[in-house]
Amino acid sequence: MNWPAWLPLRADLAPLSPYGAPQVPADASMNTNENPYPPSPKLQASIAQAVAKVALTLNRYPDRDATQLRTALASYINEASSTQTSSANIWAANGSNEIIQSLFLAFGGRSAIGFIPSYSMHSLISKVAGTSWIDGGRNPDLTFNVDIAKAQISEHKPALTFITTPNNPTGDLIPIEAIGKIAEVVAVHGGLLIVDEAYAEFSSERSAVTLIGEHPHVVVIRTMSKAFAFAGARLGYLVADPRVIDAMQIVRLPYHLSSITQAVALIALDYRAELLGNVATLIAAREGLVSELKALGLTTRPSGANFILFTGFAHTAPQLWSALLEKGVLIRDVGLSSYLRVSIGNEAENKAFIKALREVL
Ligand SMILES: *Cc1c(COP(=O)(O)O)cnc(C)c1O
Repeated sequence: MNWPAWLPLRADLAPLSPYGAPQVPADASMNTNENPYPPSPKLQASIAQAVAKVALTLNRYPDRDATQLRTALASYINEASSTQTSSANIWAANGSNEIIQSLFLAFGGRSAIGFIPSYSMHSLISKVAGTSWIDGGRNPDLTFNVDIAKAQISEHKPALTFITTPNNPTGDLIPIEAIGKIAEVVAVHGGLLIVDEAYAEFSSERSAVTLIGEHPHVVVIRTMSKAFAFAGARLGYLVADPRVIDAMQIVRLPYHLSSITQAVALIALDYRAELLGNVATLIAAREGLVSELKALGLTTRPSGANFILFTGFAHTAPQLWSALLEKGVLIRDVGLSSYLRVSIGNEAENKAFIKALREVL
């Protein structure tokens, strides 16, 4: 971008580009790891009712501490991971991206590291927050390597270490034992180990929330955007030691989470059995797509999430991405030249994707 001279844009921001997964109309939207299943008519009605009730008090600010929602999120975590989490262990915000931003504002002083390829917003928010970012490495096949990670943490001593499991865009999981070992290395130099578990509900691996009791510097990011099929509502949360949560309050904006968001997130939590019921369907569909991709001669990375990273095509990634879009199928070019990522869609979308792929390969 050529910024005009009169614009006092921070010099360190001038070379950056905004996050920009293309939002273009397509018959099959399989590019941002959304859940393809919309709320059921019953859930839609409950949400509408909750919003109507909140509408009566919109002249007032929302509960600044979102206490009721944080209590409900804590019981969800306890139910899923047999922990003793309370509202004091939870912070909620407008999507986990806001959680990530607050983590940088509160704790990002020294530097931050992540092991790439991983979620691009970790490094982008780091740069925006003025924290120097370190690109940590992985194995040549893009899987996570505990020894590489431990060595790089010891070398750089970052304030914030990001790991993502299941990782986006590769799909691979980090076993809980390995996370425990990384936590020990992080503790030596002082810093937080941030485990981004945006896709945890799709994985059978034990959650890092079970480490927090023993390792208070382990913090876990969760979201309702993926498994909960609630991306449009914008609700992400942090599970952490209460002292981490207390420090987050210094940087949060007052009344950041609207009364409407708090009310509808509570409803979605009430409907968790129904919403999470689609997780098994999506996992089965993922395994079906993996077989079909293999039958087309492509190679897939093992995935514990609701997307698949694949390679083995002759085109460049941008070429194949455009050819599929011309056929109405929108997937994701994640900036790796020989890989593309496809989010698991509904039955019709998955069929359309394979049909389009067969035609263009
Ligand atoms: C999708 C995603 C998020 C999500 O963010 P929200 O702001 O909660 O929608 C966070 N982390 C990772 C790794 C993701 O893939």
